Amino acid sequence: MRVVRTVSELRDALRRARREDSTIGFVPTMGALHAGHEALMEQARRECDVVVLSIFVNPTQFNDPTDLERYPRTEEADVAAAERAGVDLVFAPFAQEMYPRGATIEVRLAGPLVDTLEGAHRGSDHFHGVTTVVAKLFNIVQPDVAYFGQKDAQQVLVVTALVRELNFPVRIQAVQTVREPDGLAMSSRNVHVQGRDRERALALKAGLDSAQATYDGGERDADAVIAASVAAMASYEVDPEYLAIVDRVTLEPLRTVEPGALVVVAAPVGPVRLIDNATIH
Ligand code: AMP
Repeated sequence: MRVVRTVSELRDALRRARREDSTIGFVPTMGALHAGHEALMEQARRECDVVVLSIFVNPTQFNDPTDLERYPRTEEADVAAAERAGVDLVFAPFAQEMYPRGATIEVRLAGPLVDTLEGAHRGSDHFHGVTTVVAKLFNIVQPDVAYFGQKDAQQVLVVTALVRELNFPVRIQAVQTVREPDGLAMSSRNVHVQGRDRERALALKAGLDSAQATYDGGERDADAVIAASVAAMASYEVDPEYLAIVDRVTLEPLRTVEPGALVVVAAPVGPVRLIDNATIH
């Protein structure tokens, strides 16, 4: 496995794979790798000839400077995890390689996909940062398949729209959320959730489970299902920033809960903000 820092090194390293028409699988990350990222790398390994992992804490998608500053950076361990997962090439650029002085490009989607939920609460600049860096990474790596976690359900939809609208010849593959044994969705930010907050963090999964249980009990009215979920979270002393039941493709709020509806939640827990989601079945 090789670790490269520049676009030209990456292109050189992939030249043969491209000549031989090998399929290239790509896993973009911000590092601080955990079992969720491992699931992405492993699926890429099973499905593609060559696996590229990127590690880049993308400054343009952070709306909160403190969040950016304390975002965990564990490159040595990440490289070891990538090697174990069978990654062929790690692209870990410095910020000036991605955003050289004078760079002005920004790739923006508009509309509810970027304006609602995470876009409404973090600001749509968050997704403009995501689409800009993902567009650049897709041009740099030119993968056949790119793997994204369903944990960031809105991000999967945003990246899918990006690929469709800019005609990238890339297939977006969503990968199921990996959880801790007690149900907490794995996240790089979980390292900052300690002590009593670690128990409180279970509120998000409890809220999602409650939505399914309320639905299973026969309730179909979205507001009633949401109210029960918010109450379930309150028993963990967590107040969601949002808890919504939305169409899984358009993210429009649903008035009636139906199978396939997406339940999305974000909540502050201690020093961090956590997100999670589940599909009603
Ligand atoms: P990040 O490093 O947080 O930007 O995440 C990189 C990729 O890993 C994104 O596509 C995330 O959705 C995905 N990911 C993060 N956490 C999980 C998880 N618990 N399960 C599955 N995928 C995840």
